[in-house]
Amino acid sequence: MSEEILPLRLIVQKFKYLDEDHREKVREKCLKYNIEYENCIFVTQLVYCPLKRLFHEAYPDLVIQNYYEPKVIIGRLVAYGLEHVLNNFDYSDWIFKSEVEGEKVVKVDNINYLILGRIDGVIQSKIHDRRIGVEFKVTAHDLPPDHYIEQCKIYNLMFDLEYCYLVMMNRDKIYTYVVDEKYDDNDLLNLVEEYVSMVHIPRWDWECKICPFVKLCPFSRGE
Ligand code: SF4
Repeated sequence: MSEEILPLRLIVQKFKYLDEDHREKVREKCLKYNIEYENCIFVTQLVYCPLKRLFHEAYPDLVIQNYYEPKVIIGRLVAYGLEHVLNNFDYSDWIFKSEVEGEKVVKVDNINYLILGRIDGVIQSKIHDRRIGVEFKVTAHDLPPDHYIEQCKIYNLMFDLEYCYLVMMNRDKIYTYVVDEKYDDNDLLNLVEEYVSMVHIPRWDWECKICPFVKLCPFSRGE
């Protein structure tokens, strides 16, 4: 058994390679903007507790353990599956682009922060200048939680979208929610200011309960 390669280990290994690749690309982007890697923040981090990002860098072993969470594996496989099936899908007057990346530089207290986003998909009109976002979530929630909505509002700004479809999926339901509110540059600046000043730790009442760092965190409200 120890010499056999188990399918789960194979999947997780692949995720790790992909994440290392992505990390390399992020480092290149930081160099391009002359911004420290530490000052690069993902949209998916901005909408959560700011301490998690620090723990993430400090305890990579715990992050690897999180790769084995069933919901993480399912979510990622769904995202890669959709990317594979839908990328460059040309339908009528529209074309679907998967895993579209965007960035914005935000200055707080004279320090530049590189804000990076990667939306699951953008549906682009071939005739008009219209772009609609698509973000898929595998989740047990029946209604879209605030942090998913906030993420879409930021994407609406970052990718210049008319609106964003938030597609929520679980084993019993698939439903689509339209997020048509858009952050403006000032909203984003306020959010980044709040984040780097660690105003909200945790950011949401429920967050510590599902945080992989709950047992190490002095600010935990999880147990
Ligand atoms: S345990 Fe709570 S406060 Fe600590 S990092 Fe996690 S979410 Fe933030």
